[in-house]
Amino acid sequence: MAKILDGKKVSSERAAELVKKIQKLSVEPKLIIIQVGDLKESNTYIKHKIDFAKKVGIITEHKKYQENISEQEVIADILKYNADPAIHGVIVQLPLPRNIHTGEIVESIDPKKDVDCLTSKNIKLLFDETEAILPATTKGIVTLLQYYDIDLKGKRVTMIGESSLVGRPTTLALLNRMATVTVCHTHTVQLKEETKRADILIVAAGSPGLITPKHVSKNQIIIDVGITVKGKNKIVGDVEYEKVKDMVQAITPVPGGVGPMTVLSLFENVVDAATAQQKTIL
Ligand code: NAD
Repeated sequence: MAKILDGKKVSSERAAELVKKIQKLSVEPKLIIIQVGDLKESNTYIKHKIDFAKKVGIITEHKKYQENISEQEVIADILKYNADPAIHGVIVQLPLPRNIHTGEIVESIDPKKDVDCLTSKNIKLLFDETEAILPATTKGIVTLLQYYDIDLKGKRVTMIGESSLVGRPTTLALLNRMATVTVCHTHTVQLKEETKRADILIVAAGSPGLITPKHVSKNQIIIDVGITVKGKNKIVGDVEYEKVKDMVQAITPVPGGVGPMTVLSLFENVVDAATAQQKTIL
């Protein structure tokens, strides 16, 4: 039976530590969450973030704009948040509607308040192995592996997914920790061969049932990032969990794996940003 990498448990333990850290701050950490439009998935993700923030004592302000808002109006608000010392983090819930240029919105965030690590300045630091901050999902994966004493140095990691949000930054973070990383995507031939020879398999495709018993091997560690909502509100990952779980060394469940680690990591980033900004004021 595989070891279950319990993101829910790790997240709640670290949330308790975060509360203590917040109590020591001389400021009340505050995050602005920007949403354009009314995407169902975004509403759910934002609700999880706001609920977590309430639990640990972080202030959130949810700025929800109509889909037809102009880029300039959103950017003008972001510039105000950048200048406000009572605000420590600003995130934009992605994806944005097609009429809005994501890059221009994201780049207007002050990198010091960019707690999702989306600005080119923060990505460049990650690229250059001088990480200032990690994107929440990437940080969640790294923290979960660390918690369970899973060393990355020299390990063969297969990363499925090469998105800017998950696959690419995670690949860089793993490389920075001296893993040997193979990145797979929709054009990868012989996916099965790539997945089977990994020590650690990370799956972020958004394709339920992609990873079957044929794709895994004994002694592997499987991190399932995928989240797909099935039916009314059933959440499934990319791995056939029930069929695979007894074949491998360790595995994350969905829900209860990377999801809670992502939310935790975002707010750890907010507290780090508040701490750094507090220091510059003092
Ligand atoms: P995306 O659609 O931008 O990227 C998906 C990637 O997977 C692409 O690079 C694509 O080439 C690859 N891919 C898709 N199908 C594949 C296949 N059959 N074979 C090989 N590669 C394939 O998605 P994303 O934003 O990177 O998110 C990926 C998944 O992770 C989604 O299910 C998303 O909901 C989930 N997600 C979860 C969390 C979390 O906290 N657990 C956070 C972010 C995203």
